[in-house]
Amino acid sequence: MVFSETLTKYLNENDWERSICPVCNRGYWSKTYNKKENCQQVECVPEGEYFFSKILKKKPRYQPIDKVNEEFIDYFKKLGYTETTPREIYRGKDTLLTICGLQRWDDVFEGKAPVTSVRYVFNQPSIRLQDLEKVRKTGRHLTSFNMLSIQQFDANWKRYVDVLDDLLSYLSDAPKIPVQELTIVEDTWEGGAYGGSCLEFMFGGMEIGTIVYVNRPLECVDVGLGLERISWLLNKSESIFDVVGPISDSEFKDYGIMDTYRTLTLMIGQGMKPGKKGVGSIIRSFIKDNFYDLRRSDLDRLVEFYYDQWSKFIELYVPKNDVVKIIRSELNRELNSRKFHLISKLKNEKENGSILSRVNLPYDKNSIFLHENGIFSIDDAREEYSKRF
Ligand SMILES: [Zn+2]
Repeated sequence: MVFSETLTKYLNENDWERSICPVCNRGYWSKTYNKKENCQQVECVPEGEYFFSKILKKKPRYQPIDKVNEEFIDYFKKLGYTETTPREIYRGKDTLLTICGLQRWDDVFEGKAPVTSVRYVFNQPSIRLQDLEKVRKTGRHLTSFNMLSIQQFDANWKRYVDVLDDLLSYLSDAPKIPVQELTIVEDTWEGGAYGGSCLEFMFGGMEIGTIVYVNRPLECVDVGLGLERISWLLNKSESIFDVVGPISDSEFKDYGIMDTYRTLTLMIGQGMKPGKKGVGSIIRSFIKDNFYDLRRSDLDRLVEFYYDQWSKFIELYVPKNDVVKIIRSELNRELNSRKFHLISKLKNEKENGSILSRVNLPYDKNSIFLHENGIFSIDDAREEYSKRF
């Protein structure tokens, strides 16, 4: 990775000292008066897990995500940054969903819009479906989240340092995160044709954001902070879902259900529809993968909650009731396809004779077979079986 002397000088002048992490060998910076023994990312700390609630001395401060968002935008507007709107979750040309704030500027990167040195601030709702398993297991990851974003084109290292300085002031002034507990970890950042050098902010094992010096295809300063993570950190609670809400569901640790509905509401509210191909198939398989969870939950209530929440951050083009209808009809489609599959399986067994081996009381045993998969109620299973066999 390439970092400039301007940056090193700035960090040194502000009491940051460079070390090499004994675990991952990456360079990192911590305050000279509160030196950290490793880079503090979760893989490198002896705790092996997030421990931010232990190092945050203050009492938990519940800061709703919309409040943290507002504070972030206002803070940077006061410093002369220009507020702008986020981009859509999906732009209709391929299967790529919006995963970060930098994509807001595709037209600049593609040479279709002029490069300016205006500094922009906004919140970019984003989706990353690859964390699905972690969401279910830990309650610490989200497949959809808000990325607090800053970008400045026409960048140089002086401008990068200016943004970094604003960012550190923001962290200590607004959410009041003790900066002396932070480590700033050096890394490189790659994403297709894009690349650059990057600093990551770690706090108690958790990465709360990054500031990238993008050096190709254009020079740009790119900041992304996790809104939900900042709110969670202040809240000091067990799960990130405690700040995402609804709190009643979080208490029951229904993270998979909460996350799935939240992400579906954003996708469908923004106009994406389930289907066979392209981006529609992403929604379809997302529903399929979470089918049992979704079936046993309160669709109307959760969609309403997340619809209102997302509406604070991005425009939803599809009315709330239609979002509910689309999800419900997709769940029914999936239910019917599973019923069909089970009945065909039973028919096959009957044809090849193996159904008889299922014992003396095939009627009940086979109804139970239909019921066991959670697709048919026991009564429906009996009815279905007597009707068909
Ligand atoms: Zn490390």
